[in-house]
Amino acid sequence: MILRMSQLFVRTLRDDPADAEVPSHRLLVRAGYIRRAAPGIYTWLPLGLRVYRKVEQIVRDEMDAIGAQELQFPALLPKEPYEATNRWTEYGDGIFRLQDRKGADYLLGPTHEEMFTLTVKDLYSSYKDLPVWLYQIQTKYRDEARPRAGLMRGREFVMKDSYSFDVDDAGLERSYEAHRSAYVRIFDRLGFDYAIVKATSGAMGGSRSEEFLARLDVGEDTYVRSPGGYAANVEAVTTPAPDPLPYDDVPAAHAEDTPATPTIATLVDHLNAAFPREDRPWTAADTLKNVLLMLTHPDGTREPLAVGLPGDREVDQKRLEGQLEPIEVAPMTDEELTAFPALVKGYIGPAHEGRTILGEESETGIRYLVDPRVVTGTRWVTGANVEGQHVIDLVAGRDFTPDGTIEAAEVRAGDPAPDGSGPLELARGIEMGHVFQLGRKYAEALGLKVLDENGKLVTVTMGSYGIGVSRAVPVIAEYNHDEAGLVWPREVAPADVHVVAAGKGEELFAAAERISTELSSAGLDVVYDDRAGKVSPGVKFKDAELIGVPTIVVVGKGLADGVVEIKDRRSGEREEVAVDAVVARTLAAVRG
Ligand code: ATP
Ligand code: MG
Repeated sequence: MILRMSQLFVRTLRDDPADAEVPSHRLLVRAGYIRRAAPGIYTWLPLGLRVYRKVEQIVRDEMDAIGAQELQFPALLPKEPYEATNRWTEYGDGIFRLQDRKGADYLLGPTHEEMFTLTVKDLYSSYKDLPVWLYQIQTKYRDEARPRAGLMRGREFVMKDSYSFDVDDAGLERSYEAHRSAYVRIFDRLGFDYAIVKATSGAMGGSRSEEFLARLDVGEDTYVRSPGGYAANVEAVTTPAPDPLPYDDVPAAHAEDTPATPTIATLVDHLNAAFPREDRPWTAADTLKNVLLMLTHPDGTREPLAVGLPGDREVDQKRLEGQLEPIEVAPMTDEELTAFPALVKGYIGPAHEGRTILGEESETGIRYLVDPRVVTGTRWVTGANVEGQHVIDLVAGRDFTPDGTIEAAEVRAGDPAPDGSGPLELARGIEMGHVFQLGRKYAEALGLKVLDENGKLVTVTMGSYGIGVSRAVPVIAEYNHDEAGLVWPREVAPADVHVVAAGKGEELFAAAERISTELSSAGLDVVYDDRAGKVSPGVKFKDAELIGVPTIVVVGKGLADGVVEIKDRRSGEREEVAVDAVVARTLAAVRG
């Protein structure tokens, strides 16, 4: 196949689009692969569509290889199934809703668990029908709060989503493993530098969930890895609790004047000036910071919550939210605080002078959860619930007893991995895939049951597995570009070879045409820059570099001496080849 630049529907741009923050977005627009239609909504131009289809085919191949069956659901979906699972409401502003002419509610599918579940229920009724693995490669709609980086976070995007249906847990485990291994092959073929991370903490429930994160500095996810191979989403990192400490020698807690110390930094300075320690200076890690929150449960009930953590750590909002989901969390407002006269803003602590202030059994009755590092015997400086006063030597387990622990503190580079595999390193990435044991949640909500071997009705157990197919294109572009433009890996390049007619004269164009035709007849996809007239060789070279086809053949001045040039887009290596040998040589380069 030959794509002639004189006719190809493409306009390359010399300048970066104003709204493009990341290289892939910049280059995909400049090289004429995509065009913005609306915020977070993009058109695939011919070159872009060719790359996209190749990526899609890799995903499809590997899904077919494990025996999953492709089908396709509509994107326009009725409300009812999503109401049955409560997601019509839970999605909030995250989905596109619309009505038909009769006023019936519809949505544009953000993900399709409900439809798959209902369709299996519709058609299957026996354990003998299971397991079954179904997938689609289909357009999803999400009204993302912050669409960004072009196709990386779109409001319309393509996802491969598959679902497994099994009669028992062992079956689900096998289905999960099969999908996981297909994902490994897909991301290997796409050439990603990726980590498979635990997506939710073990404490949150038994079912397995892992994310495939492509390492990328422009990604929005932060994850951790250790030298010993531990990898997890920051949200899922658990803090190893230290052993309890003896506290027999710790003096009784004493409240002290610490005027004008509303922040941790001012408090630490004051402690070192007024109450110096003998062994070492006070640090922020000696202080216990108490954060007051207001929770809203899914049924609308509100509940205050206090979180205590070492003063040298910030609260990580995402970790906190992840721990509390589906409960919503917000800082307690000053007005809400007035309901608790025992608490003094800026000087909040769990206990002082024999009074217990925080905790379910305390004066305020506010549930008090602490960082796992706050173990029995640890000594703290914390608020005395009196303006300008702090308590020193307040001992956990002696002077106050939390109601439990919570993972709300930020994770830092150097923190120990929970499995003892060394210090954690933080990395940025973007979620490319997600494998998830859903269990019986959707099957229960939608009544998907089958008869088991004993003729008893049992609820089916499910897995759900997603890949961001359209997202993969900009991610590949992030990994494969240089100053001059895109540098596609062969497996997904829009063409195999880019032939440039670089010069003037009938003879030169005839030779370039002949080479292009022969390469095409040999089975290669060819971009042929046949533009004549005012388009200079310089412009053609620039476009070839920008477009990023892996092999470039230049038919130029050398033709007079019977040679053309073959250039490798990635390495920049050039080779002069006799005209007669160019087809064989190019085929060898392309086929490796
Ligand atoms: P993210 O954390 O990036 O928002 P998610 O947790 O919402 O992803 P899933 O619902 O698990 O993602 O969707 C499966 C896959 O679809 C993701 O792994 C990701 O690759 C892709 N994806 C999700 N949202 C988008 C989007 N707005 N644009 C492009 N791809 C997306
Ligand atoms: Mg999302």
